Amino acid sequence: MGEHFEKLKGALRKLPGLGHRSAERIALHLSVENPAAAREFMHALGEALENITPCPLCNGVSENGELCGICSDPARENGALCVVERASDIAAIERSGAWRGRYHVLGGKLSPLRKIGPDALNLASLERRLSGDENIRELILALSNDIEGEATCHYIQTKIAAGKSVGITRIGFGLPSGSQLGFADPTTIKSALEARRKLL
Ligand SMILES: [Zn+2]
Repeated sequence: MGEHFEKLKGALRKLPGLGHRSAERIALHLSVENPAAAREFMHALGEALENITPCPLCNGVSENGELCGICSDPARENGALCVVERASDIAAIERSGAWRGRYHVLGGKLSPLRKIGPDALNLASLERRLSGDENIRELILALSNDIEGEATCHYIQTKIAAGKSVGITRIGFGLPSGSQLGFADPTTIKSALEARRKLL
């Protein structure tokens, strides 16, 4: 394979969830088998880059700087915020149909090893939401079941929510340690939400 093919494959390999073989298959598909699909993909990607923006309130996926569909939906419950690491976690929870409240996307989790501190995450905006909206009574932390997720929960509990009249729960995971929410099936997510427990 030539230099340009390798370059395309290399770019695809940087995408989440794509291994060597999938990257090669997609590169072949786009460059040789179906160039029309490649052009459609380029067009959609260009438009997405121009128009998709993080929601100014929850940091989920929105467009043109507006509030996302969930934040602007008057039918969603205002009393509880589900805190997740990534916007893709919102999609996974929404598929379970078990959550009618609102969300806050942190953009990752605290990690001293990877040098991800509180300033790199959407924690200040979480604190502003808690201070500015007295309707919020419960924070549900739907974060990874690993050391970094644990540290992030602890930080939120002791630094962000301290002194505010908000209860904090963490979802019960029926998942192996380190599993990401986005990979869990809807039934598992539903029971994890139902089995949430209060952080002491
Ligand atoms: Zn939003």
